[in-house]
Amino acid sequence: MRVVGIRGFLVGFAPDPALGNASAVIRRRDFLLLQLIGEDGSAGWGEVFASPFAASAFVRARLAPLILGRSSRDLGRLYHDMVATLGYDRRGAAMMAISAVDMALHDLAARSQGMSVAQMLGGGLRDRLLAYASGPFIAERGAPYDAYPREVEALLRRGFRAIKPRVGIAPRQDGLAMRAMRRQVGPDIALMVDINQGYTVGAAIESARRMEEAELLWIEEPLQPEDVGGYRQVARAARCAIAGGEALASLAAFRDFLQAQTFSVLQPDLTVCGGFTGLRRVAALADAFDVPVIPHVFGTTVNAHAALQAAALLTARRGGGPMPYPFIEIDATPNPLLTLLGPMDPRSDGTIAVPDAPGIGIDLDPQRLEPWITDHWRLGAA
Ligand SMILES: [Mg+2]
Repeated sequence: MRVVGIRGFLVGFAPDPALGNASAVIRRRDFLLLQLIGEDGSAGWGEVFASPFAASAFVRARLAPLILGRSSRDLGRLYHDMVATLGYDRRGAAMMAISAVDMALHDLAARSQGMSVAQMLGGGLRDRLLAYASGPFIAERGAPYDAYPREVEALLRRGFRAIKPRVGIAPRQDGLAMRAMRRQVGPDIALMVDINQGYTVGAAIESARRMEEAELLWIEEPLQPEDVGGYRQVARAARCAIAGGEALASLAAFRDFLQAQTFSVLQPDLTVCGGFTGLRRVAALADAFDVPVIPHVFGTTVNAHAALQAAALLTARRGGGPMPYPFIEIDATPNPLLTLLGPMDPRSDGTIAVPDAPGIGIDLDPQRLEPWITDHWRLGAA
């Protein structure tokens, strides 16, 4: 399908209450949604969640001239053409811009063939994924984990059988909160934690030790994202699996972390590491190290649905939870851009179905974005 136009929508909202983690209080969530328009009027969607403003500028200035007039069938060639524009920025906003365009090219190409992205890429290995709730988040006021029992109860009622709260306030408090959570949910619910880059090596090891009784599936991002040596130390000292990778973008960065035996679960984000093309390269690399891949996703309905397609393609590995990996991460906070087309809660068995509708499986009319648009642009015949 020839691409004749590109539309960019900067969308965002202020979460209420604000979302606290070990490193920051998130008061504003902004995203770039890209729509590639095909010559027959069909459209493919892509997303940037981490640096939407810089990525938006890069798409307009450097990527749009490469894409307009080209066919989505050439998505492999176009990926290499786009990467050739990167220069020094292989781990930042320019790579995120490429990620969004690659995602949209896959959506458009699969739609034009009347099949899902997973089918186009050789066929999914599964038609459902265990959903895990990303949350609850740390309270800004009062005791940081006090609301967790009530919030976990609500997540269980929504059907989640796997829950990943934010911790990282202090090792002792992490231990108390997670041991209490294990007692609350019983032995059959999977629990993980996310420390969002908040700790030193020593604090991460101590927190892991104090959370042992909670029988976590993994401890996510305890350290700064590029601290290969620190992650190696934590991975060696902790009995629990260490997870990470959402902030890594280049294939070389993933190689460095895999080679150093840092992660037992790798979490590349489609909107950071190069879209479907980038994630598949990372997944192949991870297969060589026998490390399971679970896409990180914390954005709009576009990345969530793209992640479902990507996860359907990934190698299965048993990590100790109710189902083999990969799971699918679900932002469990009030997020109107995730639930634009309906709730994304799991079914009664705790899973979410992988759509087999064309493309990434959603029909998103840009008018639905109206209440959240802060800026938009059009190039070509868009
Ligand atoms: Mg995380």
